[in-house]
Amino acid sequence: MDPGFSLRYVRDDGAGRRPGTKSRAAAVTGSLTIVGLGPGTAGWITPAAQAALDAATDLVGYGPYVDRVPERAGLTKHASDNRVEVERASHALQMASEGRTVAVVSGGDPGVFAMAAAVFEALEAGPAEWRALPITVEPGITAMLAAAARAGAPLGGDFCAISLSDNLKPWEVVTARLEAVLAADLVICLYNPISKARPWQLGKALDLAAKHRAVTTPVLFARAVGRPDESLRILTLAEAVAAASTADMATLVMIGASSTRLIAREGAAPYLYTPRSVAKMPCATSQGRT
Ligand code: SAH
Repeated sequence: MDPGFSLRYVRDDGAGRRPGTKSRAAAVTGSLTIVGLGPGTAGWITPAAQAALDAATDLVGYGPYVDRVPERAGLTKHASDNRVEVERASHALQMASEGRTVAVVSGGDPGVFAMAAAVFEALEAGPAEWRALPITVEPGITAMLAAAARAGAPLGGDFCAISLSDNLKPWEVVTARLEAVLAADLVICLYNPISKARPWQLGKALDLAAKHRAVTTPVLFARAVGRPDESLRILTLAEAVAAASTADMATLVMIGASSTRLIAREGAAPYLYTPRSVAKMPCATSQGRT
């Protein structure tokens, strides 16, 4: 069978069921929605995400995200610690299989370095019954899009996102990917740049960037975008290398491509942007560019 047709058929079923499993699936009453809460401000939660939160009987997630959703009658909150994503996802799937309407929450978009993949990891490894559950992902505004919007239009050309966390992948993989995208002249969005347990990775990543890109390349440190303590700093790559330790877990770091630039303004922060057109690849050297 044409795999496109097969995929459509399964998705159109509404409950992710395959043909021939209708009798068991008919008994399924619970559901699971993985909801993106956006970067912080309520105005950046989509109406569809809000509707999923309003319909939930149970809310599952990392404590600070669960705290963002107001208490109400009929809603039970299950807050958990960071770093227990797959256990949390399994708990959510189990509750859904028992008939609950479960919302799993993530900051930003749940599909970007967040709970949606953890739910599917748990689903893949878990009991077959879980596959009969309707699972929906409600997207949210991811940190790089919020940061880009605040700064101007730095993602106007080609770009990529890399998590600097080496909890789930070896650091050699991170550096190999960084080398590749630095050579490709993409704007690079760095998630999870630094934490108490990972104090040096951002410095290393920026050092590597300075070997490939001009030291005048703009670098954005966007912290807590959409929250009351939001701050944006636009540095040169040379300044960013020196300032790496001033980033924290709430910071999104964006390294410009060769065409990323500033539009200066009198008495106001400059706009940061990357034009849509590219004439040719810049010639990088292993000694960095000036
Ligand atoms: N799912 C989230 C990302 C989770 S990884 C999303 O789509 O945004 C966590 C990392 O995201 C943080 O270390 C930081 O790099 C970035 N981040 C999350 N919220 C942010 C915010 N409000 N401002 C800046 N960066 C943020």
